[in-house]
Amino acid sequence: MNTARVDPDRLLATFYDLVRIDSPSGEEGALREYLKARLEDMGLATWVDAKGNLLGTLPGRGEPFLLNAHMDGVQPCRGIKPAMRDGVIYSDGSTILGADDRGGIAVILESLACLARGGPAHCAVELAFTVQEEVGLLGAKGLDLSLVRARQGIVLHSHGPAGGIIVATPYHDHLNAAIIGKAAHAGVAPEKGLSAIAVAAEAIARMNLGRIDPETTANIGVIHGGTARNIVPERVELQGEARSRDEAKLERQTEQMVDALTQAAARAGAKVELDVERAYLGYELRPDDALVQKITGAMKRLGIEPRLEATGGGSDANIFHEHGIKVANLSVGYEDVHTTNEHVALSELVKCAQVLVEVLAGSR
Ligand SMILES: [Zn+2]
Repeated sequence: MNTARVDPDRLLATFYDLVRIDSPSGEEGALREYLKARLEDMGLATWVDAKGNLLGTLPGRGEPFLLNAHMDGVQPCRGIKPAMRDGVIYSDGSTILGADDRGGIAVILESLACLARGGPAHCAVELAFTVQEEVGLLGAKGLDLSLVRARQGIVLHSHGPAGGIIVATPYHDHLNAAIIGKAAHAGVAPEKGLSAIAVAAEAIARMNLGRIDPETTANIGVIHGGTARNIVPERVELQGEARSRDEAKLERQTEQMVDALTQAAARAGAKVELDVERAYLGYELRPDDALVQKITGAMKRLGIEPRLEATGGGSDANIFHEHGIKVANLSVGYEDVHTTNEHVALSELVKCAQVLVEVLAGSR
């Protein structure tokens, strides 16, 4: 095994450096510059693509292996002040911690520090640090694939203790709709109006929402409409979504939501504008898949029990699969992400770095 050189102090210092650099979605430049300098210090070649993603390569033997984490964080994420209590790192409670996904970045940098410049023999490594993951996987969707040769790899972007491997993810539809009724004075001539809000309410009441079955969910997350208390509302806009790890179930679910809208509009004589798009495709990895075997083998050699898990969330991993790059998404140890209680145990980051080193440099 090649884990002896994972250095918890160095890993912690890297993690603190990373979370102290403000990096909201769309403003990843400062973090990218820091990473670029760290990679070049270790002798890696780097590129920045037109979208702002940072790519890098570490030469090695055989087929290249991709490592990915994303550079942006959700709000509130400016002025993060990390501190450790009993081996667990928290923010000061006024911001997120940013372990999602700078924990993943720190783990990648630590594994590279173990392998670059005189470390053990290892496979060729390609890196993709993406922008704007949290706002719709935009960096991964715009990634310059001409800079990526790897056909398999690891995404460091799942919560839970080290050992988790996401092997099933959902297909995901976005639903945008507008209902158009007719404006009228609510006190003088309500009978001349047609309330778009009332039509939307009826449509939503007829939708199947929430958890539909163990692998299917649906939500109406945003509704905007109306202009004044005394005007019958002419226009309402809705933003919703549906997800399922079964593509046919997703199609049925999205259709049910669309039908509820069109039927409610038809009954009332309102118009409806609909825009449905597939945000990303799901993927599944079998337990006997070579990539899964490679990762679970490395974990077992380290005494870490692998856990093959399904998720209801999407990530850059879904986009890599669409691009023909088979990746597994690993747990990085962080918990309560996207909240001010987000935290991560240093010991979990260390285990995760050990897994990466073992995957990249393991002899079997
Ligand atoms: Zn994330």
